[in-house]
Amino acid sequence: MPSFWQPFRAQALNLFLKPNCPLCDRTATDTFCKYCYSQLQECQLLDPARYWQGDLPLFAWGKYEGTVKRSMAKLKYDGYRSIGNMYGEWLAASWQKYPPLNTPTKLILVPIPLHAEKLASRGFNQAELIARSFSRAAGAKLDLSLHRTRSTVAQFGLSKSARQENVADAFALVRSALKPGDSVLLIDDIYTTGATVRSAALALRSIDINVCGVAVVSTVVLD
Ligand SMILES: [Zn+2]
Repeated sequence: MPSFWQPFRAQALNLFLKPNCPLCDRTATDTFCKYCYSQLQECQLLDPARYWQGDLPLFAWGKYEGTVKRSMAKLKYDGYRSIGNMYGEWLAASWQKYPPLNTPTKLILVPIPLHAEKLASRGFNQAELIARSFSRAAGAKLDLSLHRTRSTVAQFGLSKSARQENVADAFALVRSALKPGDSVLLIDDIYTTGATVRSAALALRSIDINVCGVAVVSTVVLD
Protein backbone atom coordinates (compact mmCIF):
# COMPACT_ATOMS: atom_id res chain seq x y z
CA MET A 1 0.00 0.00 0.00
CA PRO A 2 1.47 3.40 -0.96
CA SER A 3 2.32 5.34 2.11
CA PHE A 4 2.81 8.99 2.84
CA TRP A 5 6.52 8.37 3.38
CA GLN A 6 7.22 6.72 0.06
CA PRO A 7 8.25 9.85 -1.92
CA PHE A 8 10.51 10.91 0.94
CA ARG A 9 12.08 7.48 1.07
CA ALA A 10 12.64 7.56 -2.68
CA GLN A 11 14.25 10.96 -2.38
CA ALA A 12 16.49 9.81 0.46
CA LEU A 13 17.49 6.77 -1.57
CA ASN A 14 18.23 8.99 -4.54
CA LEU A 15 20.48 11.18 -2.42
CA PHE A 16 22.17 8.07 -1.13
CA LEU A 17 22.82 6.76 -4.64
CA LYS A 18 24.08 10.08 -5.97
CA PRO A 19 26.61 11.46 -3.55
CA ASN A 20 28.22 14.81 -4.20
CA CYS A 21 31.42 15.13 -6.17
CA PRO A 22 34.35 14.93 -3.70
CA LEU A 23 36.18 17.68 -5.61
CA CYS A 24 33.56 20.40 -6.05
CA ASP A 25 30.38 19.30 -4.21
CA ARG A 26 28.20 19.32 -7.35
CA THR A 27 26.01 16.25 -7.89
CA ALA A 28 28.22 13.37 -8.97
CA THR A 29 27.33 11.22 -11.98
CA ASP A 30 29.64 8.44 -10.77
CA THR A 31 32.80 9.05 -8.73
CA PHE A 32 32.91 12.71 -9.80
CA CYS A 33 30.60 15.24 -11.45
CA LYS A 34 30.56 15.85 -15.21
CA TYR A 35 32.55 19.05 -14.84
CA CYS A 36 35.40 17.38 -12.91
CA TYR A 37 35.43 14.41 -15.31
CA SER A 38 36.10 16.75 -18.20
CA GLN A 39 38.83 18.50 -16.16
CA LEU A 40 40.42 15.09 -15.49
CA GLN A 41 40.27 14.10 -19.16
CA GLU A 42 42.26 17.22 -20.00
CA CYS A 43 45.15 15.85 -17.94
CA GLN A 44 45.21 12.57 -19.90
CA LEU A 45 48.36 11.97 -21.98
CA LEU A 46 47.60 11.53 -25.67
CA ASP A 47 50.59 9.22 -25.91
CA PRO A 48 50.80 7.32 -22.59
CA ALA A 49 53.82 5.33 -23.82
CA ARG A 50 55.86 8.44 -24.63
CA TYR A 51 58.29 7.67 -21.77
CA TRP A 52 58.47 3.94 -22.51
CA GLN A 53 62.25 3.84 -23.00
CA GLY A 54 65.52 3.47 -21.11
CA ASP A 55 66.40 1.21 -18.21
CA LEU A 56 63.01 1.44 -16.49
CA PRO A 57 60.35 2.41 -19.07
CA LEU A 58 57.41 4.45 -17.83
CA PHE A 59 53.77 4.26 -18.92
CA ALA A 60 51.43 6.95 -17.58
CA TRP A 61 47.70 7.57 -17.95
CA GLY A 62 48.02 11.30 -17.38
CA LYS A 63 49.85 14.33 -16.03
CA TYR A 64 50.19 14.98 -12.32
CA GLU A 65 48.66 18.43 -12.28
CA GLY A 66 45.42 20.34 -11.70
CA THR A 67 42.35 18.20 -11.03
CA VAL A 68 44.32 14.95 -11.18
CA LYS A 69 46.57 16.23 -8.39
CA ARG A 70 43.52 17.17 -6.26
CA SER A 71 41.84 13.83 -6.91
CA MET A 72 45.00 11.96 -5.83
CA ALA A 73 45.00 13.88 -2.55
CA LYS A 74 41.31 12.96 -2.03
CA LEU A 75 42.18 9.32 -2.63
CA LYS A 76 45.15 9.23 -0.27
CA TYR A 77 44.29 11.63 2.49
CA ASP A 78 40.47 11.53 2.57
CA GLY A 79 40.13 7.83 1.84
CA TYR A 80 38.03 7.98 -1.36
CA ARG A 81 38.95 4.47 -2.48
CA SER A 82 36.57 4.59 -5.44
CA ILE A 83 39.03 7.07 -7.01
CA GLY A 84 41.74 4.37 -6.93
CA ASN A 85 39.37 1.85 -8.55
CA MET A 86 38.44 4.34 -11.25
CA TYR A 87 42.06 5.16 -12.05
CA GLY A 88 42.96 1.46 -12.20
CA GLU A 89 40.29 0.99 -14.88
CA TRP A 90 41.46 4.05 -16.80
CA LEU A 91 45.09 2.94 -16.64
CA ALA A 92 44.12 -0.56 -17.86
CA ALA A 93 42.08 0.93 -20.72
CA SER A 94 45.06 3.10 -21.75
CA TRP A 95 47.42 0.13 -21.53
CA GLN A 96 45.13 -2.00 -23.69
CA LYS A 97 44.58 0.77 -26.22
CA TYR A 98 48.25 1.83 -26.49
CA PRO A 99 50.27 -1.25 -25.47
CA PRO A 100 54.00 -0.43 -25.46
CA LEU A 101 56.14 -2.28 -28.01
CA ASN A 102 58.02 -5.45 -27.08
CA THR A 103 56.07 -6.09 -23.90
CA PRO A 104 55.31 -9.68 -22.86
CA THR A 105 51.59 -10.50 -22.99
CA LYS A 106 51.64 -12.33 -19.65
CA LEU A 107 52.56 -9.60 -17.23
CA ILE A 108 52.24 -9.82 -13.47
CA LEU A 109 51.20 -6.55 -11.83
CA VAL A 110 53.17 -5.63 -8.70
CA PRO A 111 52.06 -2.51 -6.79
CA ILE A 112 54.69 -0.41 -5.03
CA PRO A 113 54.09 -1.16 -1.35
CA LEU A 114 53.76 1.28 1.51
CA HIS A 115 55.75 0.74 4.67
CA ALA A 116 53.75 -1.07 7.36
CA GLU A 117 53.46 2.03 9.57
CA LYS A 118 52.10 4.17 6.74
CA LEU A 119 49.76 1.38 5.67
CA ALA A 120 48.42 1.15 9.22
CA SER A 121 47.79 4.89 9.48
CA ARG A 122 46.21 5.22 5.99
CA GLY A 123 44.34 1.91 6.12
CA PHE A 124 45.05 1.05 2.49
CA ASN A 125 47.73 1.25 -0.17
CA GLN A 126 46.54 3.40 -3.08
CA ALA A 127 48.95 1.66 -5.51
CA GLU A 128 47.41 -1.70 -4.53
CA LEU A 129 43.86 -0.39 -5.17
CA ILE A 130 44.95 0.81 -8.60
CA ALA A 131 46.73 -2.48 -9.38
CA ARG A 132 43.75 -4.58 -8.22
CA SER A 133 41.38 -2.63 -10.42
CA PHE A 134 43.85 -2.74 -13.37
CA SER A 135 44.16 -6.51 -12.88
CA ARG A 136 40.36 -7.01 -12.88
CA ALA A 137 39.87 -4.81 -15.94
CA ALA A 138 42.72 -6.30 -17.98
CA GLY A 139 42.59 -9.88 -16.69
CA ALA A 140 46.23 -9.62 -15.56
CA LYS A 141 47.73 -11.45 -12.58
CA LEU A 142 48.42 -9.52 -9.39
CA ASP A 143 51.22 -10.20 -6.93
CA LEU A 144 51.35 -8.51 -3.52
CA SER A 145 54.54 -10.03 -2.17
CA LEU A 146 56.77 -6.97 -2.57
CA HIS A 147 57.21 -5.30 0.82
CA ARG A 148 59.05 -2.34 2.25
CA THR A 149 61.69 -3.49 4.63
CA ARG A 150 62.24 -0.13 6.24
CA SER A 151 60.66 3.27 6.40
CA THR A 152 62.04 5.94 4.10
CA VAL A 153 61.86 9.65 4.80
CA ALA A 154 59.89 11.87 2.41
CA GLN A 155 61.82 12.29 -0.83
CA PHE A 156 60.93 15.94 -1.27
CA GLY A 157 63.85 18.29 -0.77
CA LEU A 158 66.53 15.60 -0.86
CA SER A 159 69.36 15.69 -3.41
CA LYS A 160 69.42 13.02 -6.12
CA SER A 161 72.13 10.98 -4.38
CA ALA A 162 70.37 11.34 -1.01
CA ARG A 163 67.10 10.14 -2.61
CA GLN A 164 68.79 7.06 -4.03
CA GLU A 165 70.47 6.38 -0.68
CA ASN A 166 67.09 6.87 1.02
CA VAL A 167 65.32 4.11 -0.88
CA ALA A 168 68.25 1.72 -1.48
CA ASP A 169 67.53 -1.79 -0.17
CA ALA A 170 64.12 -0.67 1.02
CA PHE A 171 62.27 -3.56 -0.71
CA ALA A 172 62.09 -7.33 -0.37
CA LEU A 173 59.79 -10.16 -1.46
CA VAL A 174 57.89 -11.91 1.33
CA ARG A 175 56.42 -15.41 0.76
CA SER A 176 56.42 -14.73 -2.96
CA ALA A 177 55.10 -16.86 -5.78
CA LEU A 178 57.23 -14.87 -8.24
CA LYS A 179 59.91 -16.91 -9.98
CA PRO A 180 63.06 -15.96 -11.89
CA GLY A 181 62.06 -15.20 -15.47
CA ASP A 182 58.59 -13.92 -14.56
CA SER A 183 57.70 -10.65 -16.27
CA VAL A 184 56.48 -7.90 -13.98
CA LEU A 185 54.92 -4.47 -14.47
CA LEU A 186 55.26 -2.24 -11.41
CA ILE A 187 52.20 -0.13 -10.56
CA ASP A 188 52.17 3.16 -8.68
CA ASP A 189 49.94 6.20 -8.33
CA ILE A 190 52.41 9.01 -9.06
CA TYR A 191 55.82 9.16 -10.73
CA THR A 192 58.01 12.01 -9.56
CA THR A 193 61.75 11.34 -9.28
CA GLY A 194 61.54 7.63 -10.07
CA ALA A 195 63.92 6.78 -7.19
CA THR A 196 61.36 4.58 -5.40
CA VAL A 197 60.38 2.52 -8.45
CA ARG A 198 64.03 2.13 -9.48
CA SER A 199 64.83 0.73 -6.06
CA ALA A 200 61.89 -1.70 -6.26
CA ALA A 201 62.99 -2.78 -9.76
CA LEU A 202 66.52 -3.35 -8.46
CA ALA A 203 65.25 -5.65 -5.71
CA LEU A 204 63.22 -7.73 -8.20
CA ARG A 205 65.94 -7.81 -10.87
CA SER A 206 68.49 -8.98 -8.28
CA ILE A 207 66.57 -12.27 -8.21
CA ASP A 208 66.25 -12.40 -12.02
CA ILE A 209 62.68 -11.19 -12.30
CA ASN A 210 62.13 -9.37 -15.58
CA VAL A 211 60.82 -5.90 -14.68
CA CYS A 212 59.45 -4.51 -17.97
CA GLY A 213 58.67 -1.09 -16.62
CA VAL A 214 56.34 0.89 -14.42
CA ALA A 215 52.76 2.00 -15.10
CA VAL A 216 51.41 4.94 -13.14
CA VAL A 217 48.21 6.92 -13.11
CA SER A 218 50.05 10.22 -13.37
CA THR A 219 53.52 11.60 -13.84
CA VAL A 220 55.13 14.97 -13.43
CA VAL A 221 55.80 16.10 -16.98
CA LEU A 222 59.35 15.06 -17.68
CA ASP A 223 60.13 17.25 -20.69
ZN1 LIG B 1 33.10 17.93 -9.40
